[in-house]
Amino acid sequence: MEIRKDRVVSIDYSLRDDTGRLIDSSEGAEPLVYLHGNENIIPGLEKELEGKNPGESIACSIAPENAYGDRDEALVFKVQKKDFGENAEVAPGMQFEAHGENGVQIVTVVKIDGEDVTLDANHPLAGETLHFDVKVVDVREATSEELEHGHVHGDHGEECDDDCDCEGDCDCDEGCCN
Ligand code: ZN
Repeated sequence: MEIRKDRVVSIDYSLRDDTGRLIDSSEGAEPLVYLHGNENIIPGLEKELEGKNPGESIACSIAPENAYGDRDEALVFKVQKKDFGENAEVAPGMQFEAHGENGVQIVTVVKIDGEDVTLDANHPLAGETLHFDVKVVDVREATSEELEHGHVHGDHGEECDDDCDCEGDCDCDEGCCN
């Protein structure tokens, strides 16, 4: 069965940056399972996978505009160390999740200068060209419930609870609370 919109796709993948550094990989873990054509993964990779069948492998490079976008320097800003609370440990390179108007954002601590803490709310992969090696493991039809929700259910034996209000803290992996 070939990959097309509204089918559930399982892939093994590895992701490297321009320097060849490994950023992410499914090796040693379960394949990534997603609902094709529903913005579950970056658009550039969906386009490359369209029409592929289980067993096929692809290698592709995705420019920032088809991945996590270009960097926006307006998203680099300063806060005060005390904003993190008493005795909070803050160090360059630390990342945390912030809940903003655009949903959950990953914010990175860039540098600390006395009481000034510089933060960067760009996606960590913004501005990066992404190099993927992908092998298609499985393709199946989505259930009507999956199509309704716009994400995959059940591959980990978990029930999706669309009404859950855990704000992304649960580990059901189904994307229902993100
Ligand atoms: Zn769901």
